[in-house]
Amino acid sequence: MKKKQNIIRIIDVTNRDGVQTSRLGLAKLQKTMINMYLNDMGIYQSEFGFPVTSHETNYLNANLELAKLGALKPIILEGWVRAIKEDVIKATQKTNIRHLNLSISTSDQMIQGKFKGKYSKTDVINEMVEAVKEAKRCGIKTIGVNAEDASRSDLEYLVEFAMAAKESGACRVRYCDTLGYDDPFTIYDRVAHLASAVRIPIELHCHNDLGMVVAVSVAGAKAAIDSGVDAYINTTVNGLGERAGNADLVSVILAIKHSSGFAGKYKLDPSINLKKAWKIAKYASYAFGIPIPVNQVAVGENAFAHESGIHADGALKDRRNYELYDFEELGRGEPEVIETGRQITAGEYSGIKGFRNVYEKLQIKFKDKNEATKILELVRYANVHTQKPLTQDELAFIAKYPNIAKKIFVMAPLTQKRRKK
Ligand SMILES: [Zn+2]
Repeated sequence: MKKKQNIIRIIDVTNRDGVQTSRLGLAKLQKTMINMYLNDMGIYQSEFGFPVTSHETNYLNANLELAKLGALKPIILEGWVRAIKEDVIKATQKTNIRHLNLSISTSDQMIQGKFKGKYSKTDVINEMVEAVKEAKRCGIKTIGVNAEDASRSDLEYLVEFAMAAKESGACRVRYCDTLGYDDPFTIYDRVAHLASAVRIPIELHCHNDLGMVVAVSVAGAKAAIDSGVDAYINTTVNGLGERAGNADLVSVILAIKHSSGFAGKYKLDPSINLKKAWKIAKYASYAFGIPIPVNQVAVGENAFAHESGIHADGALKDRRNYELYDFEELGRGEPEVIETGRQITAGEYSGIKGFRNVYEKLQIKFKDKNEATKILELVRYANVHTQKPLTQDELAFIAKYPNIAKKIFVMAPLTQKRRKK
């Protein structure tokens, strides 16, 4: 049977789900770098933050400026808000955002357990519809509607909810397996029913509480495609996210490209360049301060290591004996230079001499002393935020976009009085 040519795209949520997680966080410069790497990798969309949260405002607007300058293009930068009218209004007042996902709980457990009688199931739909209409009024181009805890929601109610979202102008519905409750079979059946009944593209947002997150995500996408709508899988770099995490970006891409049931049968967004996988995984690990497990899919130290006699001999004779995909495909295999002698790093207390030495090594030159001093000041501030030596790409970014960088570093808590205005 010929499969329909609907497409699976990736929406990475590292800068939202990843950073909201306990013990995990990124400085705004690091979030910006993640957006840059995702864009380099050809990822369709980055859920890049929280437009209602004050400390995000400058970062979000600065990244939207980068999009205008062509530095963050063609990636779509989309923000996460609650599906209430006030959040949509605030988001569009505080930022120049043009793409939003509006989120509200749809399960009986959460409607009763979180809203405590404040909202009925009908109220939830009404609230969401009002928020979607408001987003339309505010000129939001892409409106996604998130059904939080969709996997524990009554399926017929979910259909009603998604239909109302579609009719009020939403472009997609996000099926959230918020607690990782689905298995690949249940999500397939539920998403197939939802997609067939509503005929709207489906986002799959899944969690790893039962260790099945990648399988569940791709099974949900398969259901959407088989039902004749596009699928959007939510991922995070290295799978970092709430509790046991989200679907790992690289694993999801590899599963669609190389697993027996997907390879050659389902169409993955052709813009994706997996060669950037190694770089983004390493950067996220450094920025979050979370090591990549030795057995991590594709980017772990052991992903292409062979030791036992039969395996090593087999891999040497023909890599396909023991390797399903090539390390070159992931951007691995290039030697990495590790400085073992003297190292000058740039940081919050750096002086001009050391700073110039660092930039000379990157072959970045400054017009004059004034420019060098200006960039040094920004580098100091960057390091105040990241609290670890700045990477070469971070340093190059600051030198290339000093005004954007400055904006990203500025954070001023609002006083209650000012907030009322
Ligand atoms: Zn989540």
